[in-house]
Order: sequence, then structure tokens, then C-alpha cells
Amino acid sequence: MVKPPATSLLSRRNFLGVAAAASLSSPLGALAATPGEHERWLSFRHIHTGQRIKSLYWAEGDYIPESLGEIDSFLADFRSGDVHPIDIDLLNLLHRLRLKMDSDRPFHVISAYRSPATNAALLARGRGVRKNSLHLRGMAIDIRLPGRDTGALWHAAISERRGGTGFYPKYNFVHVDVGPHWHWCKPSRCDGGKPQPG
Ligand SMILES: [Zn+2]
Repeated sequence: MVKPPATSLLSRRNFLGVAAAASLSSPLGALAATPGEHERWLSFRHIHTGQRIKSLYWAEGDYIPESLGEIDSFLADFRSGDVHPIDIDLLNLLHRLRLKMDSDRPFHVISAYRSPATNAALLARGRGVRKNSLHLRGMAIDIRLPGRDTGALWHAAISERRGGTGFYPKYNFVHVDVGPHWHWCKPSRCDGGKPQPG
């Protein structure tokens, strides 16, 4: 049985405007329950704070607002403490990746939401962030999955054919987002990778 997200949750996405409303009707946005699916949960360990969370955020067709709030807080800008709603599409993408990678272990989080001030500071220090990064909109996360090859995680993200995903082998993490679909590898010599334009 397919149920849309609760109306109250739509307000979480108002900052994305019409585009968000459109994406709710996309396969990933709605992410219809598969036969026999009863729950979706995610677990994270933040490498900068050492904190962990395991959160059941969807059950029997409904998103759980309290859990979404917990996840928003956990994935806040760890430098500034600023909290921003994390796009539900991104949570569902991570859920699917966890299943695809057949892992119950927590995603290690390198970076999730970034405030404009943090992003500007990193940009000024030449830290390789984008001026209009999707991290600024709660639509991107940098992760690795312990016990699983990070390159394999990247290929799993590519195979989802949703959003962008980049592989940073030197730092052993994958960026995933729910923006336009494309992929890259930095540096560009990764197997199967495409050079990052520009
Ligand atoms: Zn990133």
C-alpha cells in the first residue's frame, strides 16, 4: 500500500518550493513501499563528534516526524551547530544504499548539512567545496560504510541513478546527493570514474 508523506512533512520541504513538490511524485521522492516492507531505519556514526544514532524514520507507510527531527539534529553542521531539515529523498537514498550494500552497520558521516557561513569559510580556505553545494540545502552527505569497499558504495550509488555521487579515494568517502543525476571521481583516475568537469 502506497501512502504519501504526511501533509505536515511537506512544510519541511517548502524551502525547495515547487521542485520539491514535483519530486514527491517521483519514484524516489515517494519511494513506494515494496511488498512486505514495514520499516525503514538508518544508523550513523559521526566521525567528528563520535556520536551515534539509530533511527526508525518510516514505519507502515508513514514517516515519523520525531525521528526525522532527530536525524536533522544529528546531521547538523558540526562546526556551527546549525540545524537544517535533511531532504527525505536523501534519507530514502541512504536506506536503499544500506540495503543494496547488505549492511546493518552505521554509515560514517564525514559531512552532512553545512551552513552558508561554514561553506564560505571552507571555500575561502580552498577546501574544495562548491559555492552552491547541495550540502547547504540538506540534500547531500559525505559517507563511508565500515566493512564495505568505498568504491563499491560509489558504484551502488551510481546504480541508483538518482542524484549526484562522487568518489574521493584519497579520503575514502563517497558524496551522495539528491540533485541532478551525474557522477564523478576525484582524482579522475578512479576505475570507472568520469573526470570532474571544470
Ligand atoms: Zn559532499
